[in-house]
Amino acid sequence: MQHKVIVVGAGVIGCCLADELTRRGASVTVIDAAEVGSATSAATFAWVNSNNKSPEEYSNLNLLGLQAHERSAARGGGRWFHQTGNVQIAQSNDELEALHHKVEKLASNGYEVRLLTPDQVRELEPALEASRLTGGAFYPKEGWIDTLTMCSSLLNRAIEAGAAFAPYQTVTNIQPNRVTTQTPDGRVHEYEADTIILAAGNGNRKILAGAGIDFPTLEPSGSGAEGDAKNAGIGIISTTGPVASGIRHIVRANGIAMRPARNGGITFADHPTGGKWDIDDPRIWTVPALLLERARELYPALKTVATENVSLGIRVLPEDGLTIADRVTDHPSIYTVATHSGVTLSAHLAEAVADEVLTGNRHTSLQAFGLSRFAAL
Ligand SMILES: Cc1cc2nc3c(=O)[nH]c(=O)nc-3n(C[C@H](O)[C@H](O)[C@H](O)COP(=O)(O)OP(=O)(O)OC[C@H]3O[C@@H](n4cnc5c(N)ncnc54)[C@H](O)[C@@H]3O)c2cc1C
Repeated sequence: MQHKVIVVGAGVIGCCLADELTRRGASVTVIDAAEVGSATSAATFAWVNSNNKSPEEYSNLNLLGLQAHERSAARGGGRWFHQTGNVQIAQSNDELEALHHKVEKLASNGYEVRLLTPDQVRELEPALEASRLTGGAFYPKEGWIDTLTMCSSLLNRAIEAGAAFAPYQTVTNIQPNRVTTQTPDGRVHEYEADTIILAAGNGNRKILAGAGIDFPTLEPSGSGAEGDAKNAGIGIISTTGPVASGIRHIVRANGIAMRPARNGGITFADHPTGGKWDIDDPRIWTVPALLLERARELYPALKTVATENVSLGIRVLPEDGLTIADRVTDHPSIYTVATHSGVTLSAHLAEAVADEVLTGNRHTSLQAFGLSRFAAL
């Protein structure tokens, strides 16, 4: 008999899962409170990497994520994975020394990276006009994902293979094998399945709270003080209008990360703050102008363009900053996935979780990411 699965959430995690599960013959219904790819997956820097992640199990998981995106692209399905490579530049001797240490460590773990002289940096990024350049590093396998194209393409593929999609339905109640939803005009629907996968990002916590389960992700209020490790982390992502900037790769320098964008512009991440903003802090709105100014010092062609789009993203953060992919203890028909770096991890998590749900085999890469590591569960 066909295994019936409900996937709650049509972000990067839910859409990759829907595609993978239908590909393996499951009967899939995807439910979302809003539209496809519209929550955290719409406000992300979307850099696919395992660059400096710890501990080792999490670094390996991210590497598997990168490799799964490569495989998906090789199968012809990956128009959304732009494997441009990542150029990190150093503009002082201290930065160069720190970069040397990092590259040495990554290379000794088998991660693909090489150091660059200033001339080699300019060869890769000829439009770069950094006032001082002491060197750099190149990570050739890294890239970025056009998340909207990925989410909508994978969900469409799943629908063509028989999946159903129920947008604008909020899950208001969950029980073993059953969810209840409500539409904005108050209509109530009931769905039943063999397995319910909660891939609702910051929504998982609220859905499970209704069933008396304390799910260990940080509250997305951003209410902690600046620098508080418990702050769920509000990040700001800004994109310019279309521009011939000459930027070829993901480029990272002290205080800024930038990459080409789907609209022909350049997307910036609020690298200087590490995303630790309080959602009510008005200073966050000064970040896009600051980043554009910083980028213009490196790429003068950006002087001809303005910021066109700004989005606030709320990170999906398990309490220890790592991934959760596991069945809920005592309710084995409910499986939860919640993670930061979800763009990188989505393709691998979809393969591993779909396999576990359909065959019962738990992938070794998931062993460290169960719910039992949190005392309360
Ligand atoms: C500023 C920023 C920068 C980032 N940069 C990177 C990066 O460079 N690389 C990287 O790999 N990752 C990055 N991330 C992390 C990554 O974007 C997230 O981990 C990922 O988008 C999470 O995807 P998701 O599918 O789990 O959640 P979401 O995208 O939030 O999707 C969850 C879906 O569930 C739905 N939902 C919620 N509650 C309910 C409910 N009750 N009923 C029905 N549906 C519901 C929502 O509507 C939503 O569509 C970044 C995040 C931020 C904020």
